[in-house]
Amino acid sequence: MIVQRKTINANVSITGIGLHSGIYTKVELHPAAAGSGITFVRADLHGLRIPALQASTTALDYATTVGKDDVAVGTVEHLLSAVMACGLTDVDIHIDGPEVPIIDGSALPFMHLIDAAGVRALDATVAPLRITEPIEVVHGEKSIRIVPSNRLILKYRIDFPHPSIGKQSFHFDFEHDNFLRKIAPARTFGFMRDVEKLRAAGLARGGSVENCIVLDDSGIVNGTLRFRDEFVRHKILDLLGDLALIGRPIIGEITATRAGHALHSQFVAKLLEATNGLADHESREAGSIESFA
Ligand SMILES: [Zn+2]
Repeated sequence: MIVQRKTINANVSITGIGLHSGIYTKVELHPAAAGSGITFVRADLHGLRIPALQASTTALDYATTVGKDDVAVGTVEHLLSAVMACGLTDVDIHIDGPEVPIIDGSALPFMHLIDAAGVRALDATVAPLRITEPIEVVHGEKSIRIVPSNRLILKYRIDFPHPSIGKQSFHFDFEHDNFLRKIAPARTFGFMRDVEKLRAAGLARGGSVENCIVLDDSGIVNGTLRFRDEFVRHKILDLLGDLALIGRPIIGEITATRAGHALHSQFVAKLLEATNGLADHESREAGSIESFA
C-alpha cells in the first residue's frame, strides 16, 4: 500500500503564547516540495531547518521538543497531530521563536489553519511504515504495543487517581473527519499542585485557564469539559503528533496504556529500529509525572 504525498496550497499563519516558555511566536505553514518532509524553520535564526524526526527530539519533559545545534522548537505535538490528521507529508513550518503556540490547548485551531490553506496532492507517493510482527515497549505499568493491521487504529487507556479523570479508555479508528470531531478539540491538562514545581523548572510559564484544563485536588477549576473523557482523547491527540516523528505515515493497531511523550518516543525509536529506520537517538527513561499531557 502506498499513499499520495501531500502539502498545503498556500501560506497560512497563527500567533500565540507558548505553554511552557510563555513566549509569543508566529507559526507560518508554507507548501514544501515532495520528499522534503515536515520541517521546522527558525525564521528568527537565519532559517535554520530542523526536521520533524525522531532523530531530532531533544526533550520530552511534559511536551515534545525537536532541535538541532542547540536550537529547539518545543511543544510540537499538537500541531504535528493536525499535520498527520490532514495527511500532510511535506510542509515547512516557519516559527520565529522557541515554542509552538498553545492557542486553546487542542489541535482544533491547527486543523482550521490547514483547512484554510487547503491541501493538495503532490506528484509522488510514500509507503507507510507497517510492521509484520507485534512490537512493544513497557515501563512498569506503562506500555505501548502495535500489532499488524491494514489501517491505523489508536487505543489509549489512562488511570489518574483524580475524581475528574479516573480510568478512561478510547478506541480511535483513524480517519480525518473522525479526528476533527472526536480528537482534535480535546485540550491539554495540568494539575495546580504541579504548577509551582513546573514554573521553578522554567515550564508552564504560558499556561493559563485559557489554554488548558486546570485541575485542583477536587475537580476542574476552569469551566466544563468538551467531552466527558476529554483527557484520554487528548492522549490520542498527543500520540498521533508524536508518531509524526517517524517521518512517514504508519499503519497498525496501537494500544497505549498510561503512556506519555517519553514512552511515545521510546516506542517510535523501537519501531524505527525494528523496521530498519533511522533511529539513531538513544531511548529515554519514561517520566513519572504526566502533567501537561
Ligand atoms: Zn498534549
